Amino acid sequence: MTRSISILGATGSVGEQTLDLIRRNRADWNVVALTANCSAEQLAKLAREFDAEIAVVGDEACLAELREGLAASNVESAGGEQALCEAASRPVDITVAAIVGCAGLAPTMAAIEQGGTVALANKEALVSAGEVMMAAVAHHGATLLPVDSEHNAIFQCLQGGRLSQVRTITLTASGGPLRTVRNLEAVTPAQAIAHPNWDMGAKISVDSATMFNKGLELIEAHHLFPLPLDRIGIVVHPQSVIHSMVEYQDGSTLAQLGPPDMRVPIASCLAWPERMETPCKPLDLAALGQLTFESPDEDRFPATRLARAAAEKGGASPAILNAANEVAVASFLSGQLAFTRIAALVEQALSRMSVAAPQTLEEVLAVDGEARAHASELLEHA
Ligand code: NDP
Repeated sequence: MTRSISILGATGSVGEQTLDLIRRNRADWNVVALTANCSAEQLAKLAREFDAEIAVVGDEACLAELREGLAASNVESAGGEQALCEAASRPVDITVAAIVGCAGLAPTMAAIEQGGTVALANKEALVSAGEVMMAAVAHHGATLLPVDSEHNAIFQCLQGGRLSQVRTITLTASGGPLRTVRNLEAVTPAQAIAHPNWDMGAKISVDSATMFNKGLELIEAHHLFPLPLDRIGIVVHPQSVIHSMVEYQDGSTLAQLGPPDMRVPIASCLAWPERMETPCKPLDLAALGQLTFESPDEDRFPATRLARAAAEKGGASPAILNAANEVAVASFLSGQLAFTRIAALVEQALSRMSVAAPQTLEEVLAVDGEARAHASELLEHA
């Protein structure tokens, strides 16, 4: 049976890998909406190839280029934030939410409001909107499937079990490209995005290097699998073979293993509750030889400590942490902020801002905007 799909962030790393799986099973899928920010030429190419109903660029300035790329095709086109939300509202069997950053929040919420299945890669949206997003999922009867490999692993390990039977959850972390680098002050963007195991977009690659990725994932896990924070742990596992673990009350620990290839968790979401073939290389444990584990070094990489504190505080804190991190990462990538100042700037923003807990999407977006403005001000004095 053909299923319909929309991909928000189709031109990114997760978006492209999703389309790679669809390309291999073309007859099974009807592509409805594909979106990007400004990669208009690439988006037009994909929309033509997959015969999408509509292609949308978030940046309206890129709409003319999109229209040019779609000339003489049947694909509708649109531009702007509102158009992204309208495209995300088109009813589909599954939406892959793969925009990077809080920019993906409103379109993801628009998809959730349709009550269908949303495969969530866009962790910043859940970190920022937390309770507001989970309440919308419950209210609209939507199904949220985690694409993030760690949360997808936990989701798989929970099949057949119940959260009430779980003692702990352990998120694994590769430790990123800088785990063993001594002089973090001098780290360049090129070094920070050179992840040893995963091929990802620039922002999440920097988050991996600072360990903010794991911090965001800790908050994400707390919403998806609501256990007290002291029962959600992090262990560094440089080989990225075990993607996370669930320890049950009887002492059994279930882990999900797989190659470090995002097509595995994406396929698990696309086929859920069934399974589908992927072209991913099988694991060769004998060739790997050993799997190793160590505790995170929070003195050198304070991000997980900051994220845990923000999650414990709750309210607007996770949204502030996320927004300040997005601003700091963009500044680092443009060569303006030193690597070690990313965490320092987030810590400053968290300690100086005091905002009431957001109760609606609009309030979350307002906190995000305020925190960005504050972090940008802090940058000027960095
Ligand atoms: P990329 O940077 O590769 O792609 C981001 C996508 O979002 C692109 O399609 C981009 O369009 C679009 N986009 C960016 N900004 C906006 C905006 N303001 N409005 C609308 N669309 C926008 O990111 P990734 O694919 O690496 O990551 C996507 C999400 O998935 C992130 O939240 C990340 O944390 C999460 N994730 C990623 C993994 C990975 O392996 N890459 C693994 C697990 C989670 P354009 O091309 O025009 O810029």
